[in-house]
Amino acid sequence: MTAANIPFGKPILAEDAFSAVRSVLESGILVHGKVTEAFEDAFAARIGVEHAVAVSSCTAGLHLVHFARGIGPGDTVAVPAMTHVATAHAVELAGARPLFIDVEAGTGNMDASLLAKAVEDGAKPAAIMPVHYLGLPCDMDAVNVVASDVGAYVLEDCALAVDATYNGRKAGGLGLAGAFSFYPVKHMTAIEGGMVTTDDGDLAAAIRKRRAFSYNRALGERTRPGIYDVDALGYNYRMSEVEAAVGLSQLSHLDDFQEARARNDAILREGLSDIPELTIFPDSNAQARSSHYCFNIVLPRDGSIPRDAVVDFLKARGVGTSVHYPSAVPMFEYYRSKYGYTPGQFPVAEWLGEQTISLPVAPHVSESDARYIADCVDDAIKTVKRG
Ligand SMILES: *Cc1c(COP(=O)(O)O)cnc(C)c1O
Repeated sequence: MTAANIPFGKPILAEDAFSAVRSVLESGILVHGKVTEAFEDAFAARIGVEHAVAVSSCTAGLHLVHFARGIGPGDTVAVPAMTHVATAHAVELAGARPLFIDVEAGTGNMDASLLAKAVEDGAKPAAIMPVHYLGLPCDMDAVNVVASDVGAYVLEDCALAVDATYNGRKAGGLGLAGAFSFYPVKHMTAIEGGMVTTDDGDLAAAIRKRRAFSYNRALGERTRPGIYDVDALGYNYRMSEVEAAVGLSQLSHLDDFQEARARNDAILREGLSDIPELTIFPDSNAQARSSHYCFNIVLPRDGSIPRDAVVDFLKARGVGTSVHYPSAVPMFEYYRSKYGYTPGQFPVAEWLGEQTISLPVAPHVSESDARYIADCVDDAIKTVKRG
C-alpha cells in the first residue's frame, strides 16, 4: 500500500485566485479598495445579513465589536470554557473579564442551562459569546433568552461556522453580530482575515470606522487628499485588497467545498458509528445544521485510550489530525494564573481538551481518503486498546 499523506487542513486555491491576486498587485491599490467592498457585499449576501465588514482576523473582529460597544474594566462576558483562546482573548483585549461557562457533553457547545444558572447566581454579563463548536450552532434560543433577561448583546464566534444554520437562518445573523475567520485551514481562506456580520447599521458603521484608526472620513470621502479628523480611538484592523481577492475567489468555490465536507463527514460518521469507545457529536438536531468543519472523536474520560497513542498511530498511517482545542481555556497558563482556576472546575471542557481528536473532512480529502481515515481510526482504537 502506498503511504497516505492526508494533512488535517490544506487550502485549495484555484487558478482564478492567482489571477485575481495578480490584478490587485498590478492595480497598485492594495488597501481601501473596491475588491474588499465586493468581498464584503458577497459575504453579506451569502450569510443573509445587511452588513459585512472585512477585518484582519476573526480575533480582530471579535475585539472590535466589544470595543465599539464600549465594554471594558468591570464588565464580564460569558464565553464557553471550550473554544479557541481567541474568544476569551477578545474579552481580555477589551479590558473585560471572561465568565467561563462549561460546555455540553453532547455537543461541546456552551451549556445554556449553566449560563442561566450563572445569571441566577448573580452574574450580569454585558455580552454573551456563543461559539458554534466545530460548526454545529449552539442552542441560540436559550442563549438569546438569557441575553434579553440580562440586557446582554450576543456576539457569535463563527470561525468554524460558515453556512451553519439554526432554525433555517445562518450563523452570523443569530445575535447582534458574528465574526468569521479566513485563516488558511478554516472553511475558506483569505490568507489571514475575518468578517464581522450584522444587521445593525450603527454597529457596522462604528466597526468600519474603528478598524481604520477612526478616521472621520474614509479614503474616498476626502475632499483633499490626506485630510481627515479623528474623533475616537481606533485600530488598524483592515483587510488588504490581496486578501480580499483570495477571499472572493474562495467564495466562488464554497459550494463545492461545503459539499465535500458534508460527504466526508457522512463517510466518517458511517464508518465510526459502531465503535463503542468513541463519543461522536451529532452534526444536526431539531434546530441546527453543522457546517462540518472537522470530524471529532472523543476518547473515554477515564483515559483508558490515551490520545497521544491514537494520534501517533494515525500519523504513522499518514493521517493528519488536529485538536480543537488543546485545553479548556481557563486552564491555559494565562487564565489559570490570572484568575486562579483549578482543574475540575470545567469538567466537560477539560475532558474535550484532553481526549478529543479532530479528523480532516476538508475538500482536499477525497472519498477514498475519508474511507481510509475511518479504517485507520478503527485499527488505531483496536491496537491502542489491546496494547
Ligand atoms: C480559529 C478560531 C478563531 C481565530 O481566528 P483568527 O482569524 O485566526 O483570528 C477564533 N475562534 C475560533 C472558534 C476559532 O476556531
